[in-house]
Amino acid sequence: MNRHTPVGSSLATLAVGCLLLLAACTPAEDEPRSFAGDPVFDLPSWSGRWFKGNTHAHTTNSDGDSTPDYVAAWYKEHGYDFLVLSDHNVFTDPATLAHLVDDSFLLIPGEEVTSSFDSASVHVNGLNLPHLVEARQAETLIATIQANVDAIREVDGVPHINHPNFRWSFGAEELAQVEHDRLLEIWNGHPTVHNDGGGASPSLEEIWDILLTGGKTIFGIAVDDAHHFQGEFHPDRANPGRGWVAVRAAALDAAELMASLEAGHFYASTGVELVEIAVRPTSLEVHIAQDRDFRYVTMFIGASGEILLETEDNPAVFQLTEDVGYVRARVSNSRSDYAWTQPVFVTRR
Ligand SMILES: [Zn+2]
Ligand SMILES: [Zn+2]
Repeated sequence: MNRHTPVGSSLATLAVGCLLLLAACTPAEDEPRSFAGDPVFDLPSWSGRWFKGNTHAHTTNSDGDSTPDYVAAWYKEHGYDFLVLSDHNVFTDPATLAHLVDDSFLLIPGEEVTSSFDSASVHVNGLNLPHLVEARQAETLIATIQANVDAIREVDGVPHINHPNFRWSFGAEELAQVEHDRLLEIWNGHPTVHNDGGGASPSLEEIWDILLTGGKTIFGIAVDDAHHFQGEFHPDRANPGRGWVAVRAAALDAAELMASLEAGHFYASTGVELVEIAVRPTSLEVHIAQDRDFRYVTMFIGASGEILLETEDNPAVFQLTEDVGYVRARVSNSRSDYAWTQPVFVTRR
């Protein structure tokens, strides 16, 4: 899991090494400057096309306002390729919705495994589950999160940890100690989940950078957490269509989509569409789908959340010249919609 070192500690190690071995750190005339090898990106091996999906939605089987049939049809009619119905501690079986599934729309079975510890809410979505997973409680908050992640893994499901700032339940300190999880909500469309943090509590995106900088391999997803399909669509209601993932996979198949999600072969979005993400040994290119006359800004972000480059170019191109730990891109448009690419980790050649 910890396949990259935070940039701070590797730089510190380098500095100490140079002090101890001054001669070894002086480049010889005919040798490259870096004795440890040049920094290069760990290249993802991905292929296929993008499939748009939402992995977090509720129905009348828990606290949603619409039937599973209505909710699934809403996503199908709005151009989604796949959907996970994730009711609280209820397994909404897609087998009952088979009439909606075809070559262009897939329903993946899931559940929001919903537990708590003291006043903290512990909600972990289980994707591609075979049946109901019972929520678990344990002796500590971290152990409770871990127990629910483990419960999902035990049936070969894929866990994603939901909305850490909901009721200010937990943060980077707890998440850093959880194991066997690869997916974290970095944006959730429910109105009371505090995506942007507040007071002393970091935003979900900042939590993500803290985890990545600490060496955890974790990918950021955006979801609807939709509850309200009826009546007015309003920022104070949990309506659908707000946050999703675009997953690169060879086919619209649950196992393929799960493997791509867990490998970070996707981007998260609240409205910005990407055409292509090209990772080369020393460059990262983000090709943005131009929507009407919207304008775009892309930030390339590295370890500790440092902004390495900000550009209005399309494609946005980042050139890797030093070990910055990892690089991810966040594209925003002139309506404050976002797309987040997954981190690409820096290694040494
Ligand atoms: Zn929840
Ligand atoms: Zn939910």
